[in-house]
Amino acid sequence: MLLRAQQAARYALRTRARWVCWNDGPEDLDGVLMSREDTLVTEVMQGLDRGEFELFYQPQLEMRTGRVRGVEALVRWHRKGALVMPNDFVPEVEAAGLSSALGMWVLKRACQQLAQWREEGVFCAQVAVNLSAAQLQGDLAESVGRVLEEYGIESGRLEIELTESAEIPDPEEAGTITRRLGEMGVGFSLDDFGSGYSNFLRLRSAQFAAVKLDRQFVAGMLDNTYDKEMLRTVIQFCRSVDIQTIAEGVETPQQLEALRQLGCDAWQGFLCSPPMGGDAVTDFLRHADARQGVAVTL
Ligand code: C2E
Ligand code: MG
Ligand code: MG
Repeated sequence: MLLRAQQAARYALRTRARWVCWNDGPEDLDGVLMSREDTLVTEVMQGLDRGEFELFYQPQLEMRTGRVRGVEALVRWHRKGALVMPNDFVPEVEAAGLSSALGMWVLKRACQQLAQWREEGVFCAQVAVNLSAAQLQGDLAESVGRVLEEYGIESGRLEIELTESAEIPDPEEAGTITRRLGEMGVGFSLDDFGSGYSNFLRLRSAQFAAVKLDRQFVAGMLDNTYDKEMLRTVIQFCRSVDIQTIAEGVETPQQLEALRQLGCDAWQGFLCSPPMGGDAVTDFLRHADARQGVAVTL
């Protein structure tokens, strides 16, 4: 029993799964789980080769003007006829040490999309790409530089969203890489601020252009004073140190209005649109450009 609990804890830690449970099963559970990871590694590599991954894009809007600030790229996996969401495979991909293979694919695809929009005359100021903390090592800065060059994308049009995590393999090396990318002109935002390990200390130690306010605070802000005051404090703090704030998961006009009153700079969420496939987001961008903004009815 204790052995099972230990194996579950180890597996949850490795995969960052929120819960793991089982009762009966083979004694060598570690072996079974390792082989499950091996299978995933093979499937992801094959999936990348076979073109099973796709990027969806969610618009981010400027609060003041309603203009599109940019889009966030969110990966999806067409696996055996089902559309698999990132929370169901990214943690395992990370645990299996494959972040960089998937991450580079995401980066390339996002830059390729920007280049395609440029050719088609569709305006999109920037694309934000989510990066696993595990990718902050080795020659990442050089690899990003090569991809930008390959597609002729100015570095200022790429934003990297970092989710704070306890698992940055080498924080010193990670710091050097983010500084190097920053010098190249790539922007950084701190994702899911207020949840997990993200904190004000982290903000001080890296050059973040934007902070993304975790959607749990947005979801609670109308009924919960703690959430609203937390948002007010973070927004005021960010204003005073010249960091933009982007609210995540805005679903209602009331939330949007409350965020506007708190002085939040930008937002994204189902109220505007869920993440969309390439064709749908292209249509969205064309319309937004023609109207010089996105009308959201309050
Ligand atoms: P995230 O970067 O915080 O992305 C926002 C998530 O919130 C997305 O989930 C999005 O679909 C969802 N969302 C957006 N608006 C709303 C809303 O109004 N209400 C609600 N309830 N949800 C909303 P998704 O696409 O399932 O992505 C989940 C997470 O997976 C992302 O969280 C990000 O951390 C990770 N992820 C996604 N794509 C990648 C990737 O290419 N690489 C890495 N390393 N991680 C990725
Ligand atoms: Mg994100
Ligand atoms: Mg987020």
